[in-house]
Amino acid sequence: MEKKVVYIAGLGLIGASLALGIKRAHPNLTILGYNRSEASRIIALERGMVDQVTDDFASFAPIADVIILALPIKQTKSYLDILARLPLKDQVLVTDVGSTKAEIVAHADQVFQDQAVRFVGGHPMAGSHKTGAAAADETLFENAYYIFTPSSQTKAGSIENLKELLSGLRSRFIEINAEEHDRVTSQISHFPHLLATTLVEQAVAYGEEHPLANRFAAGGFRDMTRIAESEPGMWTSILLSNPHAILERIADFKERLDQVAETIQADNQEAIWTFFYEGRKHRQEMQIHQPAGRDSAYHLFIDVPDKEGVILEILQLLQGISLVNIHINEENREDIHGILQLTFRQAEDQKRAQELIQKATSYTVLAR
Ligand code: NAD
Repeated sequence: MEKKVVYIAGLGLIGASLALGIKRAHPNLTILGYNRSEASRIIALERGMVDQVTDDFASFAPIADVIILALPIKQTKSYLDILARLPLKDQVLVTDVGSTKAEIVAHADQVFQDQAVRFVGGHPMAGSHKTGAAAADETLFENAYYIFTPSSQTKAGSIENLKELLSGLRSRFIEINAEEHDRVTSQISHFPHLLATTLVEQAVAYGEEHPLANRFAAGGFRDMTRIAESEPGMWTSILLSNPHAILERIADFKERLDQVAETIQADNQEAIWTFFYEGRKHRQEMQIHQPAGRDSAYHLFIDVPDKEGVILEILQLLQGISLVNIHINEENREDIHGILQLTFRQAEDQKRAQELIQKATSYTVLAR
């Protein structure tokens, strides 16, 4: 693997983070980068993410053993078209990072038909609202699922080769069919995003006549709508490249809402209680409670009294413990379990901090 040449097209958040992760496991491997804008090219080169950069995509492709397209979904398809017309190395391994897979895999199958190109669809399931090489992070994909979706161009050993190349990401590699990937992500990712945005828009419209609605919006509303701040361009591409599965989820959700409305209209107390009871039970059983990915966070909620110096008192106790965020929940207390919220990246730090605070104070400390 060390002598191979890897070519990453698109040195944005995902492409540049992949470059860092690849270098982590294979420091001697040559990584070439293409980026349309100069800013990310300079950052990637200066920070040693890549060894050489170009603004001419076609120039490096013929010398690459592995080509990673880290571009928006539409551009991924256009760049597959370009690759199919270039004199690529025999058995070059091509992959992508698009958030939807069926359209890209079908496109690769079509353009590389009868060519000695190995194609594997890829989706690293971690990211953020940040963009560009400046936001790159070698830990971005740690513990996150990295999905491979094979195509008819995926020859024996292709996925194993990619896992070896990407081992420095420390991701959880998994292989599924592209259509199933798109169905599953429509439910757990695409639909929740459009729901969050719909909820925000509903609240804004309602707030025009009821301004207090915005003022009172607190924990529950914030948790439900955080992802409405995602990048609009990326989400437009995702919705447009997975329309059937998403429309099907919308129809299913409408039916479910109608059922809830019926139980309310019927004043059916038992059905409403069961609805909430089952929802709580099922959420508690869900795997989302098992931390994964770089976004994993371990919180402590501390019920501190509203008195001067109390935050400082807590922070002094935690000297030497790595804390990633401090939040004072001073708004509406619904859904909030303590006024001071401390966030840790590591479970051990959270545990140690909880022990220290409980030993030194009488404050209630809840770990989440
Ligand atoms: P980004 O905006 O940080 O980077 C996008 C890259 O595409 C940049 O290098 C940009 O120069 C390039 N690009 C955009 N339009 C182009 C064009 N017309 N021609 C040439 N290059 C162009 O975005 P990102 O988050 O790195 O997303 C890249 C891909 O990763 C997308 O397909 C997205 O679906 C996928 N993805 C994103 C996330 C996430 O949360 N950000 C997670 C998983 C997968």
